[in-house]
Amino acid sequence: MKRILVTGGAGFLGSHLCDSLLEKGADVVCVDNFFSGFKDNIRNLFSHAYFELIRHDIIHPLFLEVDQIYHLACPASPIHYQLNAIKTVKTNVMGTINMLGLAKRIKARILLASSSEIYGDATVHPQPESYWGNVNPIGIRACYDEGKRVAETLMMDYHRQNKVDIKIARIFNTYGPRMAVNDGRAVSNFIIQALRGEPLTVHGDGSQTRSFCYVSDLIQALLALMGAEDITGPVNLGNPEEHTILEVAKKIIKLTKSASKIVHKPLPADDPVRRRPDISLAKKKLSWTPHVKLDEGLEKTIAYFKDMLQS
Ligand code: NAD
Ligand code: UDP
Repeated sequence: MKRILVTGGAGFLGSHLCDSLLEKGADVVCVDNFFSGFKDNIRNLFSHAYFELIRHDIIHPLFLEVDQIYHLACPASPIHYQLNAIKTVKTNVMGTINMLGLAKRIKARILLASSSEIYGDATVHPQPESYWGNVNPIGIRACYDEGKRVAETLMMDYHRQNKVDIKIARIFNTYGPRMAVNDGRAVSNFIIQALRGEPLTVHGDGSQTRSFCYVSDLIQALLALMGAEDITGPVNLGNPEEHTILEVAKKIIKLTKSASKIVHKPLPADDPVRRRPDISLAKKKLSWTPHVKLDEGLEKTIAYFKDMLQS
């Protein structure tokens, strides 16, 4: 039985990952400080004999014995990571150093949840792993974007210097049940607004694009990457189907049969114009490709938020 640490395990992605690892028969230790995660996300796991929860902030060292580390702890939505930007940098830098130090001591394989944000406002489209990005180092997204870039640097340096066994997942926009109601992301905002009959707040003219991956596809990719033997550098994980934000808003109005209208709000600073992953490497090395269509994933996410809003 593998003992597996999931940092950020009470968050959106982390909680789904804990579910999958337990289903596969692992002994799971979830570490979270509940900054943007919730006990409700893992409430179904509390009675599981091989699930353990530790309330801990990863900017402080952690002493455990495990076989693998999925390092996801970091607020992911702009609203959350900008709430305390300095803390976001600390989580990415000090937190990642602590997790790498742990991995080094106990000789565990460690996977970092990095982000498509390391590409910034990309000038190459779609984005392959070889693209170095276009990030504003002093902007309001920098605490996250540059934080993830340093986290990747640390991963590679611990690998080169200390032979730590590393995997780097560059995750593109992912959505699904357990996204936080208050996280201000396009998909969750639009669904909640549509269900409440409020106007959908599209930033700018809505022509900016994103490529949305359903959570179950993404979790499969993380498991495959952790299990891959011949890959060390970063791997893009996401759904390459690209949509404008206006299209997504209209689709959600249709799927929820809402009478809501669309209103346009100012575009936040440094909001990337286009984003779409080149997933050739994941296809080749992990034999992975996303399967869930946007409409199908949105239906499931809408059902989740309907329940949430009623309870
Ligand atoms: P989330 O905010 O739901 O989950 C992050 C979890 O980490 C939360 O439970 C939070 O409480 C915890 N956390 C934050 N700081 C911590 C700290 N200092 N110590 C301990 N726990 C801490 O976000 P998510 O969407 O589940 O994202 C998980 C990971 O995947 C993050 O690293 C994020 O950057 C990355 N990622 C997510 C997406 C996405 O679309 N969801 C895209 C790219 C990358
Ligand atoms: N967005 C929007 N309305 C909202 C929330 C987000 O138009 O209520 C836009 C946001 O400005 C961005 C896109 O939707 O252009 C995706 O935003 P999200 O926060 O989901 O992801 P990220 O910007 O981190 O990729």
